[in-house]
Amino acid sequence: MAEGPKRYEGKAKILYGTDDPDVLISYFKDDATAFNAQKRGQILEKGRMNCAIASHLFQLLESQGIPTHWIDTVSDREMRVRAVTIVPLEVVVRNFAAGSLCQQTGLPLGTPLTPPLVEFYYKNDDLGDPLLTRDRIRAMQLATDETVETITQLATAINRHLIEFFQKCHITLVDFKLEFGRDRHQQIVLADEISPDTCRLWDDMETDTQNRILDKDRFRQDLGNVEAAYQEVLNRILAQVAPN
Ligand code: UDP
Repeated sequence: MAEGPKRYEGKAKILYGTDDPDVLISYFKDDATAFNAQKRGQILEKGRMNCAIASHLFQLLESQGIPTHWIDTVSDREMRVRAVTIVPLEVVVRNFAAGSLCQQTGLPLGTPLTPPLVEFYYKNDDLGDPLLTRDRIRAMQLATDETVETITQLATAINRHLIEFFQKCHITLVDFKLEFGRDRHQQIVLADEISPDTCRLWDDMETDTQNRILDKDRFRQDLGNVEAAYQEVLNRILAQVAPN
């Protein structure tokens, strides 16, 4: 795929320009980071697997009426996406307690959260992505109340669709992070990616609390078999979307 100028390089992806100012190419890298980039490494073939996983999930959400930046997938590591201005919020949806929620609140790992939590973090590595309140979002002028409400509704709907889909894959969607952007019509659309890098996914076929982990926690916690876990997620998604 011929690429235009590099527009932005993040931890896991590179954005390239195209002839069309409204269209970018998102290239998925094998680079992996954790703990605000203090831990760095590579997960072999992660870019290929996450590009495929994210492509299927974006298509699924589009088919359910959720606006996303995804246009099409043009190679095994590249998708064409609509150019958006990212809202500087990391939106985390939690169905079960894990990660920072357990550390900060003492809630036991795996505690069901009903209704699910929708949380906002400030997308700012220098500040360590702090947890925000609606009042802080307003005071910092990161987004209007209306935008926060739109994002909350979208995140809740996305969660419903993803829970249902992953259930068919025999995977529990524990929590995940979303990013949203504004397109040139000022419409809020889902951006970034949804993949084992950005979700906690537990294998329903496995009872062991470490073996069941099918996401980046294997990298964060040095549990091994990281590539195999990502491949397993992709295989189960493919078995649903393109059954033999
Ligand atoms: N997450 C992410 N990027 C971040 C922070 C979190 O994709 O910069 C995802 C993470 O993989 C998990 C969810 O958001 O699925 C909730 O993460 P948490 O707040 O528990 O933080 P962590 O324990 O990952 O530091």
